[in-house]
Amino acid sequence: MIHGPCGEGHPSCACMVNGECSKNYPKEYCEKTTILQNGHVRYARPKNRISTKKNGVAVDNAFVLLHNVDLCVKYQAHINVERVSRDGMEKYLFKYFTKGFDCSKVGLQRKRASGESSTCTKGVNEIQDYLECRCIAPNDAAWRLLQFEIHHTNPSVERLPVHLPLGNSVVYNEDDSLEQVLQNPWNQITKLTAWFEANKTYPEAVCYTYAEFPEHFTWHADGKYWDYRRGTVKVARSYSEIRTIEGQQYPTFQAACQAPGLLGDDREWLSAIVDAAHWALPYQLRFY
Ligand SMILES: [Zn+2]
Repeated sequence: MIHGPCGEGHPSCACMVNGECSKNYPKEYCEKTTILQNGHVRYARPKNRISTKKNGVAVDNAFVLLHNVDLCVKYQAHINVERVSRDGMEKYLFKYFTKGFDCSKVGLQRKRASGESSTCTKGVNEIQDYLECRCIAPNDAAWRLLQFEIHHTNPSVERLPVHLPLGNSVVYNEDDSLEQVLQNPWNQITKLTAWFEANKTYPEAVCYTYAEFPEHFTWHADGKYWDYRRGTVKVARSYSEIRTIEGQQYPTFQAACQAPGLLGDDREWLSAIVDAAHWALPYQLRFY
């Protein structure tokens, strides 16, 4: 896990921009690891005179990349590891799954015949021999073909503000008139005040605490109000309502249970066959 060698004498190293290393190597020596005010971490790089050679160049702690020895040994791979200590870093959990497929640009060069002059470029079509490649692994392809989710968050989080009367935060533009911002009644409505209103409007709402509220009600930011979460009303006022699923009334209780798939039936075999039809060969379908 050694960077470079770059710097003077190695201008062709990929990190070199305008004669300097764009990754700021070699790093400064440092006796112990410290976490800086801005959340960055300064790792220990003791000046202990231990050095090694990479491509014939002597390098020491100043060139070591951030890593974890256990992970490198276990996976026998080049793995960068860095401590996460700033807000917003969780985006890295999702970023690499969603940013798209791996790509590479490849130039193909024809091997020159042994007797040929080294300056001869006859017959080489530079444009044609330049390829833009997409690297896609079979599991990646299958995942997208079968339209599985690329990511999902669970549980979903609804941030509920708690504040004193008129003590809520307000977002406004730099050039807005402060007086108008303060006098605008719209700015005084928050999820908390709207919860008070919802409790007056919906008699059922009083069963839930503020924290439980988002499970049963949806926040509409455009109109700043709470509304019943669709499909979560679990009450019935008659037998016929028990037999009603998604607006359709069924003749029997059994049929009403069958509709949302609460009872076992042949559907799982049907969907297994439909599933297999996408990936199995005909003889495999017959065999299994
Ligand atoms: Zn460098």
